Amino acid sequence: MYGVREQLAAELADIEAQGLTKHERQITTPQSSHIGTTQGEALNFCANNYLGLANNPDVVTAARDALDEWGFGMASVRFICGTQTQHRDLEKAIADFVGTQDAILFPSCFDANGGIFEVILGPEDAIISDELNHASIIDGVRLSKADRYRYKNRDMDDLRSQLQAARGQDSRRILIATDGAFSMDGYLAPLPEICDLAEEFGAMVLVDDSHATGFIGEGGRGSHEARGVMDRVDILTGTLGKALGGGSGGYVAGPQEVVDLLRQRARPYLFSNAVAPSVVAGSLKALEIARDSDEPRAQLRRNAELFRSLMTEAGFDLLPGEHPIVPVMFRGEDGARRATQVADAMLATGVYVIAFSFPVVPKGQARIRVQLSAAHSEDDVRTCVDAFVAARSEVDTV
Ligand SMILES: *Cc1c(COP(=O)(O)O)cnc(C)c1O
Repeated sequence: MYGVREQLAAELADIEAQGLTKHERQITTPQSSHIGTTQGEALNFCANNYLGLANNPDVVTAARDALDEWGFGMASVRFICGTQTQHRDLEKAIADFVGTQDAILFPSCFDANGGIFEVILGPEDAIISDELNHASIIDGVRLSKADRYRYKNRDMDDLRSQLQAARGQDSRRILIATDGAFSMDGYLAPLPEICDLAEEFGAMVLVDDSHATGFIGEGGRGSHEARGVMDRVDILTGTLGKALGGGSGGYVAGPQEVVDLLRQRARPYLFSNAVAPSVVAGSLKALEIARDSDEPRAQLRRNAELFRSLMTEAGFDLLPGEHPIVPVMFRGEDGARRATQVADAMLATGVYVIAFSFPVVPKGQARIRVQLSAAHSEDDVRTCVDAFVAARSEVDTV
């Protein structure tokens, strides 16, 4: 390896020295609100398992039955011999749920975002992207030859400036891309204002609703439903790896021509294996539950509201909002250390939460991100709040 291994080892040592090494905790049970880990049992507040469907018995049964009916793997990309009727069923069900003409499955939402931009935008075009968009949007935008503009997170004045700049360059097509819900803050994108500006400047709107589909909005259809712009967002991307069962797979949902062209041209679609049959069947069941039953969404909302109100009562500093992502802030110079120590102290008592600090979030805005799930009971939520209170006094008295 001509000394490369030593160079890589030095890079790893540097990551470790900065305290940025990610250590993977190994789980010994299915994903759930209560999990076993190699270090003991834990109450889990950091999964994207918003509707609690990751280990839902009906979803598991649908996936297990599919192993018998549809087999284990596809061993093909979609366009050769990797499309079962259920792949199309799932695409149609997704489109129907989020309110678009059609949808197309990808191996992941990372791939959906990796594939779409270069297909629908060329060198004559422009993409205007929120600065806090997911890494997969950033990478997908890089793969396209379109001009790139970035606007400050949810800042509509800045979006207007960038739209003016793009129009000034005589761009043929302009696409505004935003996450529907931002994962570090739980804030929703201001979609009505974004759609207004898009209309004014003749731009399209793409929303990545990975942290929204299934549970945001009255019917769980996403951030566009919550903000009353279901008929004004042009293209949605999303994942089957979060609320909708948490298996794997992603999609682009939108107008027929967009979906049809992606089937012809999107590289992660054309050159990567089809989503596994059992995952397709389980995801179909998860989507059906998300569509037909309001109870998991209601439970999720109750849990988030209870957590927010008990934590506020206990004097914690929360970012406001309605999302089941609840950031508990530890501001200031000392915040990163306190957030990490509080999270560690909580884990020692079996409550699993994660602290985030710079460079993942801005300096001075360290936080513990709590993610509620419909699988949590009221007792679970109270246990989490009690653990926060105990850990805070432990850390602050040392
Ligand atoms: C999780 C996430 C993705 C990636 O989804 P996968 O299906 O796991 O690849 C993409 N975009 C956003 C906004 C996400 O939160």
